[in-house]
Amino acid sequence: MSKAVQNSDVQSNERFDAYIVGKRKNRVFVIDRDRCKGCRICASVCPVEALFMSTDKTDRGYIYPIENGACTACKKCIYACPDFAISLHKSKDVTE
Ligand code: SF4
Ligand code: SF4
Repeated sequence: MSKAVQNSDVQSNERFDAYIVGKRKNRVFVIDRDRCKGCRICASVCPVEALFMSTDKTDRGYIYPIENGACTACKKCIYACPDFAISLHKSKDVTE
């Protein structure tokens, strides 16, 4: 991801949903709703069913994934997303 994630992005804002995730909670998992087209591929490939789809829609009219706390930071959804809407960052890079 070219854009550096700022501290404020760790909480949801108008564009990003960001969650502290991983076994040791050492990753920040970011969903860029401006990129997401609601295809559900990310949710379908997640081995621990950590993603479910929203009931509300983005400004562009798409549902989007929400992380439920089970994410192990395996990255499968990141590689699967055709719109590059998901990224992972080290927690220390965005919280210090
Ligand atoms: S795979 Fe990407 S575009 Fe599709 S729903 Fe997930 S985040 Fe959105
Ligand atoms: S990084 Fe892995 S565990 Fe986390 S939501 Fe994506 S597929 Fe699921």
